[in-house]
Amino acid sequence: MAKYLIAVDSGHGMQTAGKRTPAIPEAWFNKKKGDIIHEKEFNKPAAEYLITALKRCGFDTINVSPGTADVSLKDRYTKANNAKANAFVSKHYNAFNGKWGKQNGIETIISQYASAMTKELAKMVQAELVKAHSRTDRGVKTDIQQSGNNIAILRYTNMPAIITESGFMDNLVEAKTMLDPEFQKTDAEATCRGICKFFGITYVPEKTEKVIYRVQVGAYSNRELANDTKNRLITLGYDAIVVADKK
Ligand SMILES: [Zn+2]
Repeated sequence: MAKYLIAVDSGHGMQTAGKRTPAIPEAWFNKKKGDIIHEKEFNKPAAEYLITALKRCGFDTINVSPGTADVSLKDRYTKANNAKANAFVSKHYNAFNGKWGKQNGIETIISQYASAMTKELAKMVQAELVKAHSRTDRGVKTDIQQSGNNIAILRYTNMPAIITESGFMDNLVEAKTMLDPEFQKTDAEATCRGICKFFGITYVPEKTEKVIYRVQVGAYSNRELANDTKNRLITLGYDAIVVADKK
């Protein structure tokens, strides 16, 4: 079976107007008090972690907005259309009015003209994100409901297309997590699980390698010498054993 191709978008450039937090009230991660966080500082790593997760699950991917410069909306949906992507997923962070406030939670945006398939994809990803982040479920919304406008990357893409908004840049608690690599990864894995469900693909979690650290005192080619050292360690109160390894 041919692989599914997922177009992944991380939206705005680093300097795109407006797409940033208010000045932060204290030092967070690599930021100083008074700094701002650009939306891209979440979107880009979250999109990159998503690509890693999707590849692990057997998807092909295309990053339609790599780098930190602004890529035009038309370029982004054209890339996805030309590549005949099977789905288009754009990672974002929400904003209410650019002032710290109580607005919070996760929403997924689709075109007002979205197909039933697109709604299905949006619901599945939204559910996984809400579960993974334990944030308010603001539901799936159309672009008109969310912003009053048609959103080009949702309207002109030829495949199911969604925008995820994983939290609010102008909520203190949610803004801080934008910079947290663990949060970004959790977000990516949740998005990937939703995409897997939609395509009927088995989600493959990240392998966490078990590492065992041994403390070694000596290494001998003679068993007797090894036993002598072991016995000395035992008299000193250590719980020593001899492990035989083939060279
Ligand atoms: Zn955005």
